[in-house]
Amino acid sequence: MRYLPLFRDINGRDCLVVGGGAIAFRKIRLLRRAGGRVTVIAPSLTDKLMAFGETDKIDFILRPFEADDVAGRVLVVAATGDRAVNAAVSAAARNIGVPVNVVDDAALSDVVMPAIVDRNPLIVAISSGGAAPVLARNIRAAIEAMLPANLGQLAETARALRDNVRQRITDPVKRLRFWERYFLGWRGGSRGSAGNAGSAIEEFGRSANDGQVAIVGAGPGDPDLLTLKALHRLQDADVIIHDRLVGPAILDYARRDADLIDVGKTPGRHSHSQDEINALLAHHAGQGKRVVRLKGGDPFIFGRGGEEQAYLKARDIRVVVVPGITAALGCASAGGIPLTHRGTAQAVTLLTGTAGGNLPDLDWKAIAATRATLAVYMGVGTAGALRDNLIAAGADPATPVAIIENGTLESERITTGRLDELAALVESNAVRAPALLIIGEVVAVAAEAVGSTPADLALVS
Ligand code: SAH
Repeated sequence: MRYLPLFRDINGRDCLVVGGGAIAFRKIRLLRRAGGRVTVIAPSLTDKLMAFGETDKIDFILRPFEADDVAGRVLVVAATGDRAVNAAVSAAARNIGVPVNVVDDAALSDVVMPAIVDRNPLIVAISSGGAAPVLARNIRAAIEAMLPANLGQLAETARALRDNVRQRITDPVKRLRFWERYFLGWRGGSRGSAGNAGSAIEEFGRSANDGQVAIVGAGPGDPDLLTLKALHRLQDADVIIHDRLVGPAILDYARRDADLIDVGKTPGRHSHSQDEINALLAHHAGQGKRVVRLKGGDPFIFGRGGEEQAYLKARDIRVVVVPGITAALGCASAGGIPLTHRGTAQAVTLLTGTAGGNLPDLDWKAIAATRATLAVYMGVGTAGALRDNLIAAGADPATPVAIIENGTLESERITTGRLDELAALVESNAVRAPALLIIGEVVAVAAEAVGSTPADLALVS
């Protein structure tokens, strides 16, 4: 190992930055973030840096660098872009043993600046020793995505609890157990307030369970459309109880030893009833497991997530809900169809096409009268009835429609036409679920945007 990683406390201490340009500015901001007292020496400064100095406590000395400037500093940074000046700064600092960093010049530097993931007080620093900064940055991005934004809060809360926990749990082994349990499920983030040591000890210190259920939306299909929160929950779960709509690419994010249970409805196969699913959730949470109930789209849009939440809450089981991109939003946007459009559609209605096997009994006149874009879930089997009801309620038979199958997935297919041919389109194209129907003038707008007729929209995506 060429470099020893250290974390240097510079809070309130004197740091020197030589240079007044954009790169110097970045370093200055970084040093200020860590509370360093910053002196900047440069013959001239950018306006941005000048403005920053007005609101932040920075000493500017407007002249060229002199060797004496390094005296009394805990850290010196050279960011002048001029190799001769940088070399002079480096030599002066080395001469009196002050650590020096020269931007983009490992040979002149004693210390290198890592790529940083900041979840203060938790800090991850990554360095390639100057060999491959872009690689270090890529790794930084990967770690950024892995660590929840409120991880710092979790660490701060733990810090605030430490003394209290030490007093209350005197046995070191039991204390270790407490902290292990406390940080289980750390990807879920915060763990209540720091002021409450008593209840934290109550909650995490007992040997009894800490089971909970996260009702998580997996988005419309493309794994890249998962939210970071959903990803963290997946990576953390002991048990994942999922629907058929959730594809293998998403389930791949689960821990290798997680228990995956498919409760999806496949035609012709026994599927779990909602009562069975509820019982399964309660059973695993009751064993102290971290359970994820994973659903396509958003869990509360035609997903029965609300029923599961109510069931679990009634049994005092901890429940959190992680929203997902619902099919209507995901499929339409990814397919280039704006669900609202100025001058064309001022409202969107999300409908289910199936309730107990039939088209639901809605006020079709009212729906047709809003001239809202309609996004119909589970409408393939009832497309004919839907068409009849809408036209009978006054909708224009020529209203453009789009049928999006497997939206956001590789296998996505978009078929377009008119409302009066909706059922014929479903039939002649052998449309299969999952498919979303979009009915409204916005379908024509989308086609116009790419300079084609609605019938050509299918070719676009
Ligand atoms: N909770 C889900 C909806 C579940 S109902 C959500 O918020 O999206 C299942 C219906 O959603 C399917 O019949 C279909 O109409 C729609 N759907 C879900 N994923 C889809 C996809 N990738 N492409 C097209 N339609 C989809």
